[in-house]
Amino acid sequence: MRPLVIYNHRMNYINKFQNQLLNWYRQKARELPWRSDPSPYKVWISEAMLQQTRVETVIPYFNRFVDEIPSVESLAEVEDERLFKLWQGLGYYRRATYLKKAAQAIVKEYNGHLPVSINELKSLPGIGAYTAGAIASIAFNIPVPAVDGNVLRVMARVNADQGNIRNPEVKKRIEELVITLIPTNNAGDFNQALMDLGAGICLPNGTPKCNECPVKEFCKAYSKGLVSTIPVKSDKKERKMLEKTILTVWWNGRMAIRKRESKGLLANLWELPNYEGFLSKEQCVLILEQLGFTVTDITTMKNARHIFTHIEWVMKGYSISVEGEGNLSDWKWVTDEEIRGIYSIPTAFQAFFPSS
Ligand code: SF4
Repeated sequence: MRPLVIYNHRMNYINKFQNQLLNWYRQKARELPWRSDPSPYKVWISEAMLQQTRVETVIPYFNRFVDEIPSVESLAEVEDERLFKLWQGLGYYRRATYLKKAAQAIVKEYNGHLPVSINELKSLPGIGAYTAGAIASIAFNIPVPAVDGNVLRVMARVNADQGNIRNPEVKKRIEELVITLIPTNNAGDFNQALMDLGAGICLPNGTPKCNECPVKEFCKAYSKGLVSTIPVKSDKKERKMLEKTILTVWWNGRMAIRKRESKGLLANLWELPNYEGFLSKEQCVLILEQLGFTVTDITTMKNARHIFTHIEWVMKGYSISVEGEGNLSDWKWVTDEEIRGIYSIPTAFQAFFPSS
């Protein structure tokens, strides 16, 4: 008789947790453009954009993207230049490259429809466990977890888990906890409710709004007074600093840009000519003379910095006017309008654009 009592108690706990969270979500869900029509394609695009990027930033990008590239087929065929232009400012451009590669695979292997199976989703370029879980649960209502940073924080607190959430074992433990709680018939809303709870109520850095939390009565961190110490996170590796000199080179009212290499950071995007280290005016003039130009003017620009995940660029820049043809095949001379409308130049260089 006793196991049945325990089982009933556990089921009551699970049902109550689900109901309270889902009732709250029905009233408080954020209105987001991909939620009004959660097609697999839109859920996928939104999740790719939301990696490492805030919701408010993503919304206008998402709207523009799905207006212009409304389907898997159109994504598979889009020109790289146009794709990167639509992505410009979102950062982590590799996500855009993966989206196109995955779209091509979906057209080839799945007749243009995103696969329903979580393993097939995970086999596509750029789709990891979280994104696969989000697509499967939100678009197909399959009861699988979608554990991002917000959900990790919420569930670590609910379970008073004091493990380091950067540790894969802890993440797995939390995924298993979500699996026990997720309803079989409303997985998409349940996962999105957890995401919204993390984004709006169970906030990081010791400031959660526990009094407004729909699952407060289940939260062990709250009942044990551990909210400010959970989640536990090991320190991230320190970012490497890289000094660079950026050249805004003008010739005949046009600015020089060049294509980055096809591998590594910001692969295949356009950039302003730049060199490692902090160069003096004289060194820059010498470089340009060696490239076949005559420098007619050079002025120092404001310093800038840009933070990537593992690296930080500290940049000094010069605005330089040149004459002469130069002997470069990989430089392209473009107008201001062309930069704004056609070429995608990463935000890292924008402090050195004429309008900045
Ligand atoms: S009670 Fe507080 S700490 Fe616990 S889940 Fe809710 S907001 Fe987070």
